[in-house]
Amino acid sequence: LASRDFHPDDTVIDIKGTRIGGGNLVVMGGPCAVESAQQIDEIAQLVKAAGGQVLRGGAFKPRTGPYSFQGVGVEGLIMMAEAGQKHGLLTITEVMTPEYVDICAEYADILQVGTRNMQNFDLLRKLGTCGKPVLLKRGFSATYDELLNAAEYILAGGNANVMLCERGIRTFETYTRNTLDLSAIPVLQGLSHLPVISDPSHGTGRRELVEPMSKASVAAGADGLIIEMHTDPDNSMTGDGVQSLFPDQFAALLKDLEQLAPLV
Ligand code: PEP
Ligand code: MN
Repeated sequence: LASRDFHPDDTVIDIKGTRIGGGNLVVMGGPCAVESAQQIDEIAQLVKAAGGQVLRGGAFKPRTGPYSFQGVGVEGLIMMAEAGQKHGLLTITEVMTPEYVDICAEYADILQVGTRNMQNFDLLRKLGTCGKPVLLKRGFSATYDELLNAAEYILAGGNANVMLCERGIRTFETYTRNTLDLSAIPVLQGLSHLPVISDPSHGTGRRELVEPMSKASVAAGADGLIIEMHTDPDNSMTGDGVQSLFPDQFAALLKDLEQLAPLV
């Protein structure tokens, strides 16, 4: 079902009038994690003012260590839904387990599958019937074929609204957190009709690389970007402050991107 042979035309996912795929550029921006109602409200206002369409933020965080901050949970879903509604933004949040799919689907417009969960097949199956669009991140060691097979699990359950996300893969290079595989964008668009979103934040792990790799992703044909932005990155509650843009950098980037592709 994910193959372009099966479905020659680009899939366009319409969420409350915002059309993702088929030549539009969607920008999803926001913090790694929802930290407080005030934080997410402030950031939502900045994302909207800059021209972004979707507010990102994790309420449930997949952390490498069990003692790290794990997210504020359901309260965060509510805070983000309120901020999105108030500022006229769609919302995207990560869901980590099948048990939490229903509640995340109740509050968010798009559900995100993280890189660590790309082959959590029980989660993927559950997302096949959740009724909400899904952004499926590529596993950091997954091939294109494995990513497309993971998407297939969601599609096979009856959910046609799947976006693929390149978020960097693990290579021998340690200067960057991951290596953003730009080739994934045209390759996946050739193999599949699904929209392809690029994540230059996790793809590089370095703030100064987010702007050039965002532009490179758009030049390579990405249907959208998911970018971390924080009002106080040095004090963010996850380690992802180092890759988060300051609000003025985010706004300047979107201005530049508008020259390359129309923001939907
Ligand atoms: C995130 O988007 O904050 C995240 C945890 O992403 P990934 O699953 O790509 O690491
Ligand atoms: Mn993050």
